[in-house]
Amino acid sequence: MNKMMKKTLKERLAILSDAAKYDASCASSGTTKRDSGASGGLGSTEGSGICHAYAPDGRCISLLKILLTNFCIYDCAFCINRSSSNVERARFTPEEVVWLTLEFYRRNYIEGLFLSSGIIRSSDHTMEEMVRVVRELRVTHNFRGYIHLKSIPEASAKLIEEAGLYADRLSLNIELPTDSGITRLAPEKKPSGIRRSMGDLRLKIEEAGEPTLQTKRRKRFVPAGQSTQMIVGADGASDATILGTSARLYGSYGLRRVYYSAFSPIPDSSKNLPLIKPPLMREHRLYQADWLYRFYGFGIDEITATQEGGMLDLDLDPKLAWALGHREQFPVDINRAAKEMLLRVPGLGTKAVKGILSGRRFRRLRIEDLARLGVSIKKVQAFVTAEGWTPKRLIERPDLRAMFEPKPEQLQLL
Ligand code: SF4
Repeated sequence: MNKMMKKTLKERLAILSDAAKYDASCASSGTTKRDSGASGGLGSTEGSGICHAYAPDGRCISLLKILLTNFCIYDCAFCINRSSSNVERARFTPEEVVWLTLEFYRRNYIEGLFLSSGIIRSSDHTMEEMVRVVRELRVTHNFRGYIHLKSIPEASAKLIEEAGLYADRLSLNIELPTDSGITRLAPEKKPSGIRRSMGDLRLKIEEAGEPTLQTKRRKRFVPAGQSTQMIVGADGASDATILGTSARLYGSYGLRRVYYSAFSPIPDSSKNLPLIKPPLMREHRLYQADWLYRFYGFGIDEITATQEGGMLDLDLDPKLAWALGHREQFPVDINRAAKEMLLRVPGLGTKAVKGILSGRRFRRLRIEDLARLGVSIKKVQAFVTAEGWTPKRLIERPDLRAMFEPKPEQLQLL
């Protein structure tokens, strides 16, 4: 009996949940609480790979986040599970993952499963095992919880399609923002193959979204869509490059989310990698910029054009940085400005803008009305005019930036 076989289920759960924590696509990314913790054991409601994610309806749900195995035949430099790493290895059978998921679910510890894996034997062999897990859960056990499944790179289209029948979300990691970065740091991965799989999946999702003539019902196929993850800071790509890649991925493959994961030097790391990790704030700023692109009408070029070397300002959120670089466009009259311009005002979120647009149909709004909409007057006052309020020359003050810069105690993430 080899060493791996001697490990108990609990020991393997500890190893394979800990190994899964490096995947950001089901974590509260942008916070410092990234450690899934592996010490809680089977009966614990925390640790043991339980992570939190947002379901498509906006609910925060807890998921069992594990790898099927951390053995891998690939050697991606940034990955703790790469074949040349000395990490302790373990492997579940598909039946064990099914059992664990059902047990955790029945005890109300989790509302779903996030399953990823290293590659054993071949991409198709690994993907077949992953599909077996989700098929068993859905078909044999009528499991109704949420399932996020990682697709294995280079797995056949047929297997990915079958996975899509059972999973709520599928993700394929693009890993790095440039093809040259992938070739250098993840030599076995083929960027064109990853994009092809994303394209195939998009077509299948769109096909399933069309009602058929016979039933008029839409087929259930990856209802929460597809997502991907990019590692930040491992390959020297600037924020402008990263966000440009994200924009292409959103546009070409209809991705629901691109997750950004600040590279962290791993034990026994490859010499091709930097020795220091990027500030976590960089990851946070990328999420903010990504949000501006998807929901606030900003172009990627606009967000990054005024930033030195294509890097986002770590001290200011990107919307505020843009406004300070375009002071000539302010102040904005909240009683007359178009929705698109209101969305560009620092401190006004989509909800507040909606409130302004509906409130001003009945009367002219005062700056105090913004406070009632949950807006910080301190943040917004230099950028707006309202009934009875004009910021005078506040917008021209040379020290305006300093007024918004974080205080030393707020700089922990930098
Ligand atoms: S294929 Fe996945 S698990 Fe294997 S080394 Fe690369 S990133 Fe790690």
